[in-house]
Amino acid sequence: MPPLAYFKKQFLPISECRISIMTHALHYGTACFEGIRGNWNEEEHQVFLFRAREHYDRFHKSCRIMKLKLPLSVDELCELTQELVERSGLKEDVYIRPFAYKSSETIGPKLHGLEDDFFLTVNPPPPYLDVEKGIRAGISSWRRIDDSMVPPRAKVTGIYINCSLAKTEAVENGYDEAIMLNVDGHVSEGTGNNILLIMGNRVVTPGTTDNILMGITRDTVLRLAKEELGLETEERPVDRSELYIADEVFVTGTLSHLVPVLEIDHRAIGTGKIGPITHQFRAFYFDVIRGKVPKYREWCLPCYRKLART
Ligand code: PMP
Repeated sequence: MPPLAYFKKQFLPISECRISIMTHALHYGTACFEGIRGNWNEEEHQVFLFRAREHYDRFHKSCRIMKLKLPLSVDELCELTQELVERSGLKEDVYIRPFAYKSSETIGPKLHGLEDDFFLTVNPPPPYLDVEKGIRAGISSWRRIDDSMVPPRAKVTGIYINCSLAKTEAVENGYDEAIMLNVDGHVSEGTGNNILLIMGNRVVTPGTTDNILMGITRDTVLRLAKEELGLETEERPVDRSELYIADEVFVTGTLSHLVPVLEIDHRAIGTGKIGPITHQFRAFYFDVIRGKVPKYREWCLPCYRKLART
């Protein structure tokens, strides 16, 4: 079965989906997207979409900021995604990419008076950061784009130029990931993930006005911190030097999951090994996303629906 898309109201192999080289979004970055994971549960023979509703709610908000019209509601998008995975026949972890874009074949940067279109793709997840071993990170010389320039709370394709510059600089300098600071010098986030610090019995992380994407994994971890690990949570501006003295640091994201950061700017974080709290979080989080924890089962939407009913 080739990788599948929902494109112009049809389910098609991705290789058959074509758009024009004059597409507005290709020239000006005028598109919004999401990344949703479907997680394979071996015992139930099921793929569970993790927090699909929250992803589609964020998708709607991104589109509102970018004046992109979405033809489907959150519930309809969830159902369409279940159907796409079901039709793909994939019985493994999957990565779904919803994408809404300015589809007019028009020259000139603007958002108004253009046509919009929308598609979904499903594929096995691409390789990303090493969730088992952890990573080394460096502070980027590229600052995080500010809400007064391009709003980072919207998941806009054009914003990923900022992330790409930072990521390549970091990798070419021998790190696995970049951590970007805001224009005011406070910590913002990684290039495709949020950053969280363990300081004593607190989980500390940059807040909503720190030019972060409001990550769904970040939200999940903050909730698990309070409800399951009995930790306090603080969303506030974070100084660069707080990273160096934190007990543990990790980054979170749909693709990353929860990745320990063992070193930042050539300074070991804590013991330089994966810390006990990160370890605990990661184990619990993996059970949650595969639908194995009844309390959080409502976050997990089954794709093979006939199976789910029996
Ligand atoms: N920040 C950025 C810039 C991202 O691209 C992502 C990945 N979507 C995240 C944070 C993490 O968000 P989430 O946990 O919702 O995937």
